[in-house]
Amino acid sequence: MASGKVYLVGAGPGDPGLLTLKGQQCLELADVVIYDYLANPLLLGYAPSDAEKIYVGKVRGNHHLPQEETNALLAEKAAAGLQVVRLKGGDPYIFGRGGEEAAYLQERDIPFEVIPGVTAGFAAAAYAGIPLTHRDVTTSLALLTGHERPERKLSSLDWEKLATGLGTLIFYMGLSNLKLISEQLVKHGRSPQTPVAVVQWATLPRQRTLVGTLETIVADVAREGLEPPAVIVIGDVVKYREELRWYDNLPLFGKRFLITRPRAQAADFVQKLQQQGAETICIPTIEIAPPDDLRPFDEAVQKLTDFDSLILTSVNGVEAFFERLTANKLDVRSLAGIQLIAVGPKTAEAIAQRGLRPDLVPARYQAEGLVEELLAAGVEGHRFLYPRAKVVRPVLIEALKKAGAEVIAPEAYQNVRPTGKEDMIRHLLSEGELDAICFSSSSTFDNLLAMFGDELKKLQGRAEFFSIGPITSETIRKNGFEVALEPGKSTLDDLVAAMVQYYQQ
Ligand code: SAH
Repeated sequence: MASGKVYLVGAGPGDPGLLTLKGQQCLELADVVIYDYLANPLLLGYAPSDAEKIYVGKVRGNHHLPQEETNALLAEKAAAGLQVVRLKGGDPYIFGRGGEEAAYLQERDIPFEVIPGVTAGFAAAAYAGIPLTHRDVTTSLALLTGHERPERKLSSLDWEKLATGLGTLIFYMGLSNLKLISEQLVKHGRSPQTPVAVVQWATLPRQRTLVGTLETIVADVAREGLEPPAVIVIGDVVKYREELRWYDNLPLFGKRFLITRPRAQAADFVQKLQQQGAETICIPTIEIAPPDDLRPFDEAVQKLTDFDSLILTSVNGVEAFFERLTANKLDVRSLAGIQLIAVGPKTAEAIAQRGLRPDLVPARYQAEGLVEELLAAGVEGHRFLYPRAKVVRPVLIEALKKAGAEVIAPEAYQNVRPTGKEDMIRHLLSEGELDAICFSSSSTFDNLLAMFGDELKKLQGRAEFFSIGPITSETIRKNGFEVALEPGKSTLDDLVAAMVQYYQQ
């Protein structure tokens, strides 16, 4: 039997991007992942889908699994020859009982490795704009536990040395003892004016940071209602936050958006929103599937050289076209001499990625814009191949035909409605947890409406509807809903820019 091993992996503080590469590699090879409350569950996505995932987290006051049982579970899985990832919030060896788990394994001769993680205190400071050490202010730093229950431990701290002998202090698990902590520090000689920052849910879009002084912070926290998990940073370095803030003042910080685009095409949009500080939840309301009958498309592709122009109006269309080109044992050489028309910059980019340069990218990104430019150039007798979605507006085909062109428009792909996600969306909407839903095409809206029917009416008002452009907006309005925002140009980049502007006003 292959020998099992336990990897104590630091999951980092919350932002999934703060996992180490080595931690990711361990997850990718895991047979079992045993994870905590503070480890971001999104990280489980790195583990193989058939890996066993076991939650042993403790929610305060509700201890899911006693430490002894967690230890035993680790040993048992490793003894069965499995690769076990013990995923722990922050760093496994900082206030996380990682040392106890390792000792338990060591006593039983079970091999283990420790992969450090970004500990919450360091991350909270960074994301709150607080340099933990600074030449001008302090050269020392201490990590401390302010754990709720064992007052013994707290009172056993050498408050006098802490208060005067050290620079920056970071307390973990200290919120419920904040009064004791601040009083003791002042009593033992720290200035009551010493700045204090409390950072809740650090590095996540729900991060909240509160700044006060040793004298005010207890009342500040009570007033603002901050709750665990939070770290407390005490020391003069806290004042740098004023000038060094960079995260929680991003324009879309604290906003949460539902992205309805198919996942494969949402990555770029999601990344841009996140760069502006937004939280994004991707629940596609459309999925792309091949047409029910591929024959008409294949026939057209086989006769490619008969056409004068190829019109592609979406990234899906580009992908479907090249997929069928290959399936029909052809390649890009069959496109020689054919005018390549791309509607929209993303479509043009997808074509460019295949080593081709579109001959025409109309200035306006809708069918109307293309029709205008083509008619101006003259299309009489011209043969167009237009691989299209199953459902399209008839504008382009009708206008070209009317002007004397021949248009072959086989179905190249269809949008289908994913099922099973209604409950998640309903929950997000009904709990008022969303600021807006972003629609990047009419079908993303149509499908959402089809998923919810009249219920959507009741749910609107809890989140705003943002639309990529006039066609999508029209679909939304036609169904009796309001569009809160539509960018001047119909691209996702312009939509992000418009969203930034919207919230800045
Ligand atoms: N091993 C972890 C700490 C576990 S103790 C680490 O290295 O970060 C749990 C405490 O960590 C919480 O009570 C809180 O004080 C702190 N903590 C963990 N994640 C946090 C987060 N995202 N924001 C603020 N505090 C956090």
